Amino acid sequence: MKSFFGQNRSKLVQDIANTFGELKSQLRAEQLFRKIYKQNPIQDVDFEGLSEEVRKWFLNHYDLNIPLEIHELQSSTHDGSVKFAMRLKKDGRLVESVLIPERGRLTQCISTQVGCAQACRFCQTGRMGLLRSLTTEEIVGQVILAEKWKAENPNFQVSSYKQVTNIVYMGMGEPLDNIDNVIESTHIFCDNLGLNFSPNKVTISTVGLMPALNQVLENTKVAVALSLHSPFEAERSKIMPVNVKHPITEVVRTIKEHSKNGSRRSFMIQYTLLRGINDSKEHAEALVSLLKDVSVKINLIPLNEHEGASYRRPDLGRVYAFQQELKKAGMVATVRLSKGRDIQAACGQLIKDKAIKE
Ligand code: SF4
Repeated sequence: MKSFFGQNRSKLVQDIANTFGELKSQLRAEQLFRKIYKQNPIQDVDFEGLSEEVRKWFLNHYDLNIPLEIHELQSSTHDGSVKFAMRLKKDGRLVESVLIPERGRLTQCISTQVGCAQACRFCQTGRMGLLRSLTTEEIVGQVILAEKWKAENPNFQVSSYKQVTNIVYMGMGEPLDNIDNVIESTHIFCDNLGLNFSPNKVTISTVGLMPALNQVLENTKVAVALSLHSPFEAERSKIMPVNVKHPITEVVRTIKEHSKNGSRRSFMIQYTLLRGINDSKEHAEALVSLLKDVSVKINLIPLNEHEGASYRRPDLGRVYAFQQELKKAGMVATVRLSKGRDIQAACGQLIKDKAIKE
């Protein structure tokens, strides 16, 4: 049996056509997608209207179980964020996923890998190394599981939201290191008969892996967030080893080229501010020059310090001075004071020894 949550609609059409012939395969796949995904949360499916033959075949070939379960959760007393440790049923490993309520939006931050191979110096997950990549159904399943948990736990602030409104691939792992499953999952999230997210409400974050970034640009319409963190090549290579192989100027050039071709895709720059390392006026000026002629929004994120970190968080005066330099040059720059800091749910804090099989 294969997981229903790991298949986009065209694959299901193909599967039905291979079994019952082309005629009506499209219609039958549409019926199945509608019946299953229209529910929130997804639970016992009513197959009325589907022929007995198709229903039996479907239930014999497709698994509707969510491939993860909640292992534990922590809720922030400051801002209502909820961080889940989700257990992957396949091998018992744990990944983290966070629900973040903010001004009428409920954003879910999802993971794409157990651990990460990129080893960015300021990141806890990066210290784990890569244990494995998630399957498509394990990526999609995080959202389905969170919706189910919300419906069963109405007393949390996040449960007052009818549904998750935005998805960010900013949890554990580098999404572009798991490119096929990540792209497939965006197709399920953005299918109007699937989970029905508008592509601009779905954001893939990346350190700038090439050529996988081109695959995202060619095969999806979702927003892209580039983790930049320093405009200087040598310095970025020290903070983010990926820069040695994929220099930031080349990655930014790819984004510029794509934007020139009339794309309406939204690009964001994530810039984690590290005290005394990348928070100077010179850095702000170099950042402006690097991003000249690209339409991007810059998110400035003061580092979330964690135990064992060798970098420090700048004071807020420094953070706002950096923002002012960017604004003076006409850039759109916002300061993101991370949500869920009291539950270690902020960027770069998702971890940990727990993710190793317990
Ligand atoms: S910041 Fe992202 S890409 Fe870098 S090590 Fe952490 S999880 Fe991996």
